[in-house]
Amino acid sequence: YAAKESHDGVAVYDPLSDGNDRSRLVLLSELRRGLADGELVVHYQPKVALGSGQVVGVEALVRWQHPVRGLLAPVDFLPAVERTALIEPVTDAVLDLALAQVRAWWAAGFRVPVAVNLSARSLARPDLLGRVLQRLQAHGVPADLLRLEITESALLAEPTRAREVLRSLHAAGVRLSIDDFGTGYSSMGHLKHLPVDELKVDRSYVAEMVTSAEDAALVRSVVDLGHELGMTVVAEGVEDAATAAALADLRCDVGQGWLFGRPGPAVDVTAVLRAGAAAR
Ligand code: C2E
Ligand code: MG
Ligand code: MG
Ligand code: MG
Repeated sequence: YAAKESHDGVAVYDPLSDGNDRSRLVLLSELRRGLADGELVVHYQPKVALGSGQVVGVEALVRWQHPVRGLLAPVDFLPAVERTALIEPVTDAVLDLALAQVRAWWAAGFRVPVAVNLSARSLARPDLLGRVLQRLQAHGVPADLLRLEITESALLAEPTRAREVLRSLHAAGVRLSIDDFGTGYSSMGHLKHLPVDELKVDRSYVAEMVTSAEDAALVRSVVDLGHELGMTVVAEGVEDAATAAALADLRCDVGQGWLFGRPGPAVDVTAVLRAGAAAR
């Protein structure tokens, strides 16, 4: 396997960059085993209100605790998995872990909504709504504590089907976000018809907004567009205080990024929630 550095300092290998079918098959069969052995784990990253500094939610980000290769990031296995039906049990495992955690936080006095990422493939599945509702019920979590993040490009793949599925999820009370906004090419007319209440501005625009007037202008127009459509706007990849200040100036609602906390085990978020409660 080709080794490479990950942005999080997570140990990684990259079977896809080998471009090798055999290593892909090995990866998939190992993941099947890993799923059965409970090796998928979820890290959580806080979403923070730029005005008050309060944690308004967390995003669940999957990792694979591989017995030999260590903690693997999504980029090391999801692209291969997303091309197969194996993504469905992965989605279900992440939902189960995240909803159990939300329930535990709630029991500890913290009502924290969790966001789970959905791949394009899952969005096209007729059983998606049922699987989500069944899990909410099994974990005793109200639907409004679950948010599903769908990338702009996944929405564009099958717009009519996606709209139907999103409507059914929304009608059931589940919250919806458009992830990586700005990287696809959705028209504003398309957005208007989606029952989505959150837009996440892609990190690639946020990263350089302090030094690039063009990027700042793009972020500003996404914030304004989101607000015009009655949505909350979240900036991804906020790494420093200057960026957070620039985002607050643009009236961006929420920030997510290393400045506020890297993705980590649930206990890290629990500590942040406790500190926030103590400060109030
Ligand atoms: P995403 O949903 O856009 O998640 C944000 C990614 O940006 C995460 O990478 C996070 O660790 C990283 N990030 C957060 N703050 C910063 C920052 O300040 N600077 C930088 N440079 N990066 C930051 P991660 O965890 O490696 O996940 C990558 C992608 O994998 C996610 O992008 C999402 O599309 C996908 N993914 C993660 N978990 C799941 C999952 O359970 N299911 C599915 N279908 N996709 C997932
Ligand atoms: Mg996301
Ligand atoms: Mg994103
Ligand atoms: Mg992104």
